[in-house]
Amino acid sequence: MNVGALLPGPQAQASRPVTLGVLGGGQLGRMFVHAAQAMGFQAAVLDPDPASPAGRVADVHIATAYDDEQGLAQLMQRCEAVTTEFENVPAQVLATLAAQRVVAPAAAAVAVAQDRRREKAHFAASARRTGVVPAPHAVVENETDLAHVPAALLPGILKTARLGYDGKGQIRVDHHDDLRAAWQQLGSVPCVLERRLALRDELSVIVARSANGTMVTLPVQRNVHRAGILAVTEVLPGVIPEALQRQAEAATQAIAEDLGYVGVLCVEFFVVEDGTRDGQLVVNEMAPRPHNSGHYSIDACDVSQFELQVRTLAGLPLVAPRAHSAAVMLNLLGDLWWRDGQAVTPDWASVLALPGVHLHLYGKAQARPGRKMGHLTVTAADGATACRIALTAAQRLGMAPWR
Ligand code: ATP
Ligand code: MG
Repeated sequence: MNVGALLPGPQAQASRPVTLGVLGGGQLGRMFVHAAQAMGFQAAVLDPDPASPAGRVADVHIATAYDDEQGLAQLMQRCEAVTTEFENVPAQVLATLAAQRVVAPAAAAVAVAQDRRREKAHFAASARRTGVVPAPHAVVENETDLAHVPAALLPGILKTARLGYDGKGQIRVDHHDDLRAAWQQLGSVPCVLERRLALRDELSVIVARSANGTMVTLPVQRNVHRAGILAVTEVLPGVIPEALQRQAEAATQAIAEDLGYVGVLCVEFFVVEDGTRDGQLVVNEMAPRPHNSGHYSIDACDVSQFELQVRTLAGLPLVAPRAHSAAVMLNLLGDLWWRDGQAVTPDWASVLALPGVHLHLYGKAQARPGRKMGHLTVTAADGATACRIALTAAQRLGMAPWR
């Protein structure tokens, strides 16, 4: 079904408010629910976990498996439009829903993002327009592929084609002799071997695209990863060269356009530090949804990535978001809840005593190392202040500095 304007207007309220649905009940779903409710919509979440972060704040929580027929029927009956908060929802589920309801993003676009082989092929095709290519890579699906891996791809990173996140499903491989063992360790499933690049920086761009092709982007984010997990996002004026920002935005828009994408899409980039290609932009991967690196937009922009998601889903106008503050976002991983094997509560009061600190906790009961429990955004009038306060906040929480 086409996306039309689903305004929560007076006629809708006569019966009941328009309801927007989301597949997945994690923190991204929770922030989507908050944005939808703030604009007068009701929100429904489908997630099997009865205590899911989004399910707990939604107007309706359908606690079934993602492919449960009754659960999907209930979702369709209740919602005018449905989106997803994670890319691994079966694409077929989105296609089923789309037969009767507005669905954004579409199953076909999500299917490309779900598979690194298709994703890289899509990037390579868009690169003909933008010049921003993916890292050198080869598909590894069988013994023959293993034997023919070009030497130029090593040292490399072997990544499962499907279901990887936060650095999971990846093994660093230095020598050809180690490839087979790494592939077997990953379950001998289809993989992509990527050349390991020396990185000067990592960037990401979030674009929202409406059904009529209008596109707006959030300011370019600079990301710091630790052990494959996003640790810090900075959006500070004057840090990333203008030309590089424009190139990353143009590449992101081309990737969205070539997919016929409707919704919020995040594209991750590397800035290479590597002899002859020093400073070159390389496209890494995409997420067909809001992204951890865009969380700062809730507190630092006049329109957040979640409001953009609501607007694209409900067929509402898109206007260019403006960052009104410099921002640094710190991911709060479960590690902060543990010290010397003992469970502790992080000292929130000490960071909330700093100016411009916005604390977001996702309501997850169990803090496990590496688990995303929340984030904290520092906003300030200028980049130097935002950085200084964020570094102080990190120190008070026991997080390692990144600058
Ligand atoms: P996400 O949680 O973002 O979905 P993911 O598990 O899908 O993560 P990637 O984004 O592919 O993984 O990789 C995670 C991190 O590992 C990157 O942000 C980067 O720091 C590092 N990395 C990945 N690929 C390469 C590469 N080819 N060269 C150098 N570093 C890389
Ligand atoms: Mg990534």
